[in-house]
Amino acid sequence: MNLAREAIELLGQVARILWFEGTKHGMRDREWMALRFLSRANRFSRTPSALASYVGATRGTASFIIGELERLGYVERKRSATDKRSVMLSVTQQGKKFLARDPVNGLVDAIAVLDDDSKIRFRDTLRHVLDQSDAAEQRHHTDVCKRCIFLREDRTSSESKSAVEFTCRLFRAPIAEAEIDLLCTSFEHHRQ
Ligand code: SF4
Repeated sequence: MNLAREAIELLGQVARILWFEGTKHGMRDREWMALRFLSRANRFSRTPSALASYVGATRGTASFIIGELERLGYVERKRSATDKRSVMLSVTQQGKKFLARDPVNGLVDAIAVLDDDSKIRFRDTLRHVLDQSDAAEQRHHTDVCKRCIFLREDRTSSESKSAVEFTCRLFRAPIAEAEIDLLCTSFEHHRQ
């Protein structure tokens, strides 16, 4: 079999672990996807519309998913401090604890035992596939800030210390160093 097709065939079977019929530990696949996403999303993406875009659902379906996660006590919504009309979602302590039962944890464990070079190659291969597919379909996948075309890095140094400051040129807002590894649905990668 052609190696590329064999790889995609295997990827399709891995996807069946992510997408399943019925519920696991009381939640449907899209609810797990939403909880997982909200636990890793940056402040610009923890909104109902960003969640809808990530899950690939309508605003109505996303609102239903959020309602379920709230009812279970795994997610809470707060009015944004800067814009009272917008809502910010966050995963509660209970939700973080519940993620220990995430059905994809078996996949994470299987990858975690690989050596670091293999993990990096595996991650980069998946990114390459997504980047190429984005280019072909003129869309953008969700990814981390540190790879984004909009992230600006300013280095400052004085006699005593040097520091790096990050800014998002799209949202015109500062980005803390701890946030650059978080997911953002407005991510855009550099085109070659
Ligand atoms: S730099 Fe890119 S990934 Fe980061 S917040 Fe801005 S748009 Fe999102």
